[in-house]
Amino acid sequence: IAARLNSSGFIRSQGLIGGKWIDAHDGKTIEVRNPATGDLITNVACMGGKETNDAIASAHEAFISWSKVTAAERSKCLRKWYDLLMAHKEELGQLMTLEQGKPLKEAIGEVSYGASFVEFYAEEAKRVYGDIIPATSPDRRLFVLKQPIGVVGAITPWNFPLAMITRKVAPALACGCTVVIKPAELTPLTALAAAELSIQAGIPPGAINVVMGNASDIGDALIASPQVRKITFTGSTGVGKKLMAGAAATVKKVSLELGGNAPCIIFDDADLDVALKGTLATKFRNSGQTCVCANRILVQEGIYEKFANAFSNAVGSMKVGNGFGEGVVQGPLINDNAVHKVESFLQDAISKGAKVLTGGKRHSLGMTFFEPTVISGVKSDMLISREEVFGPVAPLLKFKTEEEAIRIANDTNAGLAAYMFTTNIQRSWRVSEALEYGLVGVNEGLISTEVAPFGGIKQSGLGREGSKYGMDDYLEIKYICMGNM
Ligand code: ADP
Repeated sequence: IAARLNSSGFIRSQGLIGGKWIDAHDGKTIEVRNPATGDLITNVACMGGKETNDAIASAHEAFISWSKVTAAERSKCLRKWYDLLMAHKEELGQLMTLEQGKPLKEAIGEVSYGASFVEFYAEEAKRVYGDIIPATSPDRRLFVLKQPIGVVGAITPWNFPLAMITRKVAPALACGCTVVIKPAELTPLTALAAAELSIQAGIPPGAINVVMGNASDIGDALIASPQVRKITFTGSTGVGKKLMAGAAATVKKVSLELGGNAPCIIFDDADLDVALKGTLATKFRNSGQTCVCANRILVQEGIYEKFANAFSNAVGSMKVGNGFGEGVVQGPLINDNAVHKVESFLQDAISKGAKVLTGGKRHSLGMTFFEPTVISGVKSDMLISREEVFGPVAPLLKFKTEEEAIRIANDTNAGLAAYMFTTNIQRSWRVSEALEYGLVGVNEGLISTEVAPFGGIKQSGLGREGSKYGMDDYLEIKYICMGNM
């Protein structure tokens, strides 16, 4: 598959600066490996501050013209990019499975999901309206314009190699901004292939630049540049805080999508089948490696045994393997560190009294494969309840009352996604309002879509991506006062 993708031009190894494919100035490269096999896919340019500054300069130059192009024109380019992404969703999906490990069906699903942001913002580009404000005196006229903020630095993680990029880049371009993308070093290939398609779509040189390599050097250059007016980041809370602090020096606008600690609450009155299906979907998507994956499954005492049995049976029968394998629903974890984290969280929980219902150890396939796992008797003070496990481990916590469930659910600094399963309509409203989270799924485990706002509260982040609200992060509001009319 790698050879085929390579011969059809889908595997690129250089960065993209000012519309040109470029090596690192010192010729350095880094390896990109397939997490399912350990095989080397390719070596990509390992860039740093110098290339980042070149990319910023290109983006800045491109901004001058792109910001003045009509919205209709920008819309057409984005629509073309969407069409090309969709036309190549098989190849992009294969590339994603190759570098990231997720099952092919899930990868192709991500291509459609990622592309949907490009389509949506192609449409939204045409709707950046201003205002006319009734003036406070008869000889004045007050206007509000919305203008693109400028060059955007977009730093993205490995768990959604395409969607995390399009969710930032599409609204940025729609508004008239230009971008310097830094994809995760573990998964740069999907980003590079998508960037090539953006050129084919007619998005002008310099509007999209891609640099990868030394993360902190690239991050520092983006942060230091006064020309970069906005940083948008998806990744760990620690790096997000560092970027936010750094952005203070040049007062950049910052959007952050950071870690979650999603509660998934199953009430006694839940429809068991709906709860099972929804919880499986939210917990085991991408082998548990998403910031909206259920991290704590709170189950009310009346349904606990029944749910735990049915859930662990379902989890125990999930097929693990290479993402290209037939019927595989769980791929490998991204790397050894991810497996160590899962193991240490499990060890901590078991040492404090949790019981393994299914799974619990590395998979016999070796590499970074891990058995889909369910543990029971989890308590709020265990590591696995405090932090994101980011792997295929589902911890079950028992609760008695609705108040207790809300208290446990909100007892965290994170506030990204929460889920609940109940057939009681009053309860669904009460609990939705009480949950301190940016997204709430009621009787639904997969809720992200390009048409709805995605983002966290508390330490899970700032700003929203997707939907009409996702445009605001890339726009400045300008007030014009005309006097002495
Ligand atoms: P994860 O645990 O998901 O890998 P990270 O926050 O480490 O989360 O990575 C998310 C993105 O942030 C990646 O593209 C990574 O290379 C980048 N990154 C990591 N450290 C820094 C840094 N100091 N400055 C800028 N970007 C960084």
